[in-house]
Amino acid sequence: MQGLHEDTFRQIDCLDCANCCKTTGPLFTNRDVERIAKLFKLKPKAFIEQYLRLDEDNDYVLQSVPCTFLGEDNRCSIYDHRPKACQEFPHTDRKKFYQISHLTLNNVGICPAAFKIVEAMKSRL
Ligand code: SF4
Ligand code: SF4
Repeated sequence: MQGLHEDTFRQIDCLDCANCCKTTGPLFTNRDVERIAKLFKLKPKAFIEQYLRLDEDNDYVLQSVPCTFLGEDNRCSIYDHRPKACQEFPHTDRKKFYQISHLTLNNVGICPAAFKIVEAMKSRL
């Protein structure tokens, strides 16, 4: 999976896509909230009120998509501080990849790279 992940992301430029940022958006952990709130010189509570909501699983998510931090050029305006979930998406290089099949099934519908990686994996089975 590591090899397939790396080969695929050598061929795909996320700046031509940004579909993850346009259609889903990440979960925000407490650490993400603290780090990004600090960047905006906001208290975490104020950052949450301005940008986030609780979803049905009680996780903090964006109030709306496309992500408010996405620029028209598909660049993330908080890239160096972006949520952990954004850093790791589409999770196809995760060590225990087999444990997140349900998540991957969802992500292949969003992410052309994840789709390509899974198709390549299937052809090797
Ligand atoms: S959906 Fe996949 S390919 Fe597109 S920007 Fe996100 S990670 Fe990159
Ligand atoms: S924080 Fe940045 S990387 Fe994450 S969804 Fe928003 S624009 Fe995309």
